[in-house]
Amino acid sequence: MKIAFIGLGNMGGGMAANLVKAGHEVRAFDLSEAAVAAAREHGCAIFASAAEACDGVDAVVTMLPNGAIVKAVYTNDVIGKAPAGAVLLDCSTIDVATAREVISLAKAAGYDMVDAPVSGGIAAANAGTLTFMVGGTDSAFKRSESILQAMGKAVIHAGAAGNGQAAKICNNMLLGIHMIGTCEAFAMAQKLGLDPQTFYDISSVSSGQNWSMTSYCPVPGVGPTTPADNNYQGGFATALMLKDLKLAMEAAASSGASTPLGKHAQELYEAFSAENGGLDFSAIIKTL
Ligand code: NAD
Repeated sequence: MKIAFIGLGNMGGGMAANLVKAGHEVRAFDLSEAAVAAAREHGCAIFASAAEACDGVDAVVTMLPNGAIVKAVYTNDVIGKAPAGAVLLDCSTIDVATAREVISLAKAAGYDMVDAPVSGGIAAANAGTLTFMVGGTDSAFKRSESILQAMGKAVIHAGAAGNGQAAKICNNMLLGIHMIGTCEAFAMAQKLGLDPQTFYDISSVSSGQNWSMTSYCPVPGVGPTTPADNNYQGGFATALMLKDLKLAMEAAASSGASTPLGKHAQELYEAFSAENGGLDFSAIIKTL
């Protein structure tokens, strides 16, 4: 297929390269010279604007920083520029309301479109092992599935337009909460005289077990190798966790959901992010 790819940053760069590896012709655009240069090395054809990249394509994939940029790119450069009948896939993490608005603008112009945010970070984007949570009609999902499979290990239909974003922020709100809870438990165990490894050996096979403990342990030298073992470098940046918690709190407010722990997690990450936004989100254990 001919696929336009817009937004070749930390995530989009690897995703576009995987579409090339799968045999697609990728027409790419980004505002950053460095991102464009790397994409060219990975076999993408580079264009001077998003609108030009969309010329004659079968599909458009976007991986952009936020909802305002996604809306601007679709309204100015994709809708009406990509051929009628192209399928549109936004993989960025953005607010549910903007995702639904952009999909309905695309639909009014005759396009099938999905929101398809991802779970998995830069390593998964490079390796082609992302999980995609997809919102949109059955036909839009079916048309997107094989394109997403070239970039991921799991592609799950979450329901109607915007439901991919809803799944993503509910999941990441839970992740933020259980990371902080896991950090609290390790910090208190140590104050009570328990060795962290011993606490891990017990809790990881008891009812406190969770992903932040057994797959992403915030304590260096305990459990599998994680960003904690690399001085909290790499991994999932605190600033991005804060972004997702803010999106979750916006969605809670607009839907009337009660999320007291999500709100508190957002406050704790907000305070921590001021000086530590670039560290992995498990580094919040330093505050405990
Ligand atoms: P990034 O900042 O590295 O990349 C974004 C890219 O978009 C940049 O290269 C930027 O130049 C480009 N861009 C911005 N405005 C543009 C425009 N108008 N036209 C064309 N290009 C434009 O960010 P990232 O880490 O790749 O994240 C992208 C999205 O993926 C975000 O929504 C983020 O929340 C989500 N996400 C990131 C991770 C992660 O671990 N980094 C994990 C899951 C989801």
